[in-house]
Parts: sequence; C-alpha cells; structure tokens
Amino acid sequence: MQEALLYDRLDDRQVLCRQCPWRCQIAPGELGRCRVRLNQEGTLFAPNYGLISAAAVEPIERRWIYHLFPGTVLLTLGGWGNNLRCRHRPEPAAIPQEQGKRRFLDAERAISFALERNCRGLGWGYEEPAVWLEYVLDGMKLAKANGLYTAILTNGFISPEALDLLGPYLDAYIVQLLAASAGPYEEVCGLEEWPAILEATAYARKRWNCHLEVHTPLLPGVNQEDNLLRELAGWIRDRVGKDTPWHLIGPEATEDTVPAEELEWARMVGVEAGLEYVYLHRPGQAPTSTLCPSCGQVLIQRQETYYVKLSGIEEGQCSRCGHPIRLQRSIFK
Ligand code: SF4
Repeated sequence: MQEALLYDRLDDRQVLCRQCPWRCQIAPGELGRCRVRLNQEGTLFAPNYGLISAAAVEPIERRWIYHLFPGTVLLTLGGWGNNLRCRHRPEPAAIPQEQGKRRFLDAERAISFALERNCRGLGWGYEEPAVWLEYVLDGMKLAKANGLYTAILTNGFISPEALDLLGPYLDAYIVQLLAASAGPYEEVCGLEEWPAILEATAYARKRWNCHLEVHTPLLPGVNQEDNLLRELAGWIRDRVGKDTPWHLIGPEATEDTVPAEELEWARMVGVEAGLEYVYLHRPGQAPTSTLCPSCGQVLIQRQETYYVKLSGIEEGQCSRCGHPIRLQRSIFK
C-alpha cells in the first residue's frame, strides 16, 4: 500500500494528516474522515492510490471549463473518497470491498491511454482529488513530462501543503464555490471551516499561478439569494480577478425549480459586479460562446456537439478593441 505524503507521527502511534484542513488525528487501525487515509501501526497509508471510480474522454467544455485549451479533449479520472459531504451524499464514497469492483490504473498507463485517445490534457475530478494526492501528483508529473496540460476539479478543501506539492505541475484549478459566507457551507456541508476554501483558491491562483475557473451550483433556498451571489461575485473580482470565468450551474430541468430563462438574473449579478466572463449552464443545454467583455466581439464560438471555434484573439487580446482576454493555451507557467 502507498504511504501517504503529508502527515506527522504522534505519540501512541497516532498520526496527524495534513492533506486537507480537517487535519484529522487518526488512531491506529482507523480511517480519516475521507475514509481513504488509513493509520496502520503509526504509518499513514493511502489505500485509494490508483483505484479508479470513473474515467471519461470528453471535450473539455463538457466539464464546464471554457478558458483552458478550448476545443481540446480531456481525460478525466475519478477516485474514491471525499472530505466534504453534500446534500445528496452524507457519507463519502468508500473504496469497494469486492475485488471485482476495484479498478486499478497505474499512472503510466493513464498517460498512455490519454495519448492514445488524442487527449490534450488530464484532469482529476468526480470524487475529490484532494484526498487522492499521491496518485494525482504522480500522474501530474508524468502528464507534464508528456506535454499534457493538467487540471483538478475540486471542492477546494485542500491544505496549502498539498497545494505546494501539486502547484509546480498544476495548470488549472477548477473549484466549486458555493458562497463567500458561512450559511450555504454550513447548511450543505456542515462546514464551519469554509474560509479555508476561499484561501486555498486565492493561494492556487496567486502562489502557483494556476488558471482558475469557478463553478457555483445554484441551489434553491441555499445560495440563490441575490445578496449571497453578489458577495461571492465581489470576492472573485477582488481576490482572484475580474477575468476569472464564473460558471453558474442551474439545477436539472427535471427538478421542481426556477426555469432556465429566469436564472438569467443570476448571471446579471456577476456582470453587474464587473466579472468579465459569466456563464449560465443547465445540464443538457448547448454551451455558450465567449464574447469580448469590452466590445462584444465573439471570441470563442461554441455550439452543440461541442463544436468550438476560436477567432478574434491575437496575442492574448481582442483583435477588434485590444482588450486583454483570459485564455490559457500554454503548459508553461
Ligand atoms: S485527507 Fe482525509 S484524513 Fe487527511 S485531513 Fe483530510 S479528511 Fe482527514
């Protein structure tokens, strides 16, 4: 079993995991909160190393990532375990006990697979990559050595130490932010330590110069209030930049919720706050195009079936008005 990278040994064979802000103190024979860190006789192990819960080869736009290598194909891998609960899943997905359900993919094979399928990048998402650190780090190093871009899709509850390990190899930090205040995090995740999520987001952007895109699921009765969205939009603008793409993700059409057309007000909250790229999504809906925030010229045209066409961007600027455009198309930081 793979030993964990970030932990301290304590008295009586206890350990302190430093991978995420929970900083679990784990007794011998016990698991951490994420259920994928195991203390065996005073050594912390990562039993989820290399175990895959999901994998997909797909257009990067399908993951709602719009300003990172547009039009390319991404291999996204998911592991087991999570460090935050959500409304639909009060407990993290534990590693299956049945051997038949355990799918192991070594990091080298993942890279070969990505290259064989003409993927331009590798992402880690679905479950929480912050609790899959050792495997994600090994994969990231190999991906970069093979000229692939790298991205994590995270809930953002990750320690600065873990980000310092990933940072040199991490191109894009795609983070889900529910709000910039306590209420929604306490209600959905039972989390009082929510400021750590915002701090990690700013740290990934500023210390490690990661390309950043923010995903915010619109949850009726939780974070859809005007003042909560305004607060978050203001935080994005002031702390990580008005050119950070903000993706507002509407509920499934089948749910008994506000119709898509009426969610336009949520997008306007971001626009009025001064954010330059605000996208409103609904699962199953055609992707929207990117316009120049200054003159409105179409810069990245997106259509159904994920047809993507770039035009009107020259040397990082709008070709019509010269406005700088946020677009990551290099694997060099
Ligand atoms: S990674 Fe898991 S064990 Fe480590 S601090 Fe976070 S929840 Fe606890």
